[in-house]
Amino acid sequence: MSGIVVLGSANMDLVVRQPRPAHPGETMSGSSFATGPGGKGLNQAVAAARAGAEVAFIGCVGPDDFGARLTRVLDEAGIDASAVRVVAEPIDRATTGIAAISVTDDGENSIVVVPGANGDDELTETDAAAIGRAQFLLVQLERPLPLVRRALETARESGVRTVLTPAPATTEAAALIPLADIVVPNEGEAAMLSGLADPDADASARALSGRASKGDGTGLAVVTLGERGAVVARGGEIVHRVGARRVDAVDTTGAGDTFVGALIAWLAGGAELEEALEAAAAAAAIAVTREGAAASMPSRDEIEAALG
Ligand code: ADP
Repeated sequence: MSGIVVLGSANMDLVVRQPRPAHPGETMSGSSFATGPGGKGLNQAVAAARAGAEVAFIGCVGPDDFGARLTRVLDEAGIDASAVRVVAEPIDRATTGIAAISVTDDGENSIVVVPGANGDDELTETDAAAIGRAQFLLVQLERPLPLVRRALETARESGVRTVLTPAPATTEAAALIPLADIVVPNEGEAAMLSGLADPDADASARALSGRASKGDGTGLAVVTLGERGAVVARGGEIVHRVGARRVDAVDTTGAGDTFVGALIAWLAGGAELEEALEAAAAAAAIAVTREGAAASMPSRDEIEAALG
């Protein structure tokens, strides 16, 4: 049995550094190029596995070198990748997802994502069975929404606890919140999904927790607030606040994914909510002091050392 099943995206990030944005039609020289694993699904799976959980990943790649490399990344992180499918057709899905990221010298990012195989919307019987055996199902919204919905429904029918990172946040995504036991948005996503006009983080957290878990009063919303920590609501009431740790941040990419991965790893290991939130904040604080997304995520030993 896997403690945590993550259903989500896996991308290869292709990162170009260039002096300034290119003009239409222009060819210019960049100063560096690097590739690295990415996609919120893969990042959260790696974060949870590094934090000590038993993790299985359900995702799709193309029949290409990037797909083989991403599968190897999962294997090397100790994640069960046996449910990773290689998509052969249709042709626009038979490529591994990529994010082409341009970073200019003054730090401006522009990103083009081609989802490719992440657009596959099949939930196989094997996938459904793996979800049914898990303690937690962890999903984000970089796969087709009908697929995410089926996965959440499958989990809830089997009594598996469901966790939704609602990113990217869209108006259609709001309909999935009732299927989540725990929803973990950042401040901007929470405001957008709350349906409120210009809410503060507390108001968003209250509204989302009231709708989570079909509004039965047990739904949790954990709204992350960057260097201000996180606020937690249950069933429409604020129940906890988490302070962020003071660190010198060098790269906040993947902070939220590290936070949720460690949070659920701790909960799957039997920790109480407050203890799990402290571990999540400690893990994310370590990750932001290092470059990269998956590459910056701390091990369980490092998180425990930071907790003291
Ligand atoms: P996202 O990456 O999804 O936008 P946030 O920026 O809210 O999410 O960050 C998620 C968590 O990471 C925060 O709740 C906090 O615990 C931690 N974090 C983010 N930025 C910092 C920072 N500069 N210093 C310390 N912790 C941070």
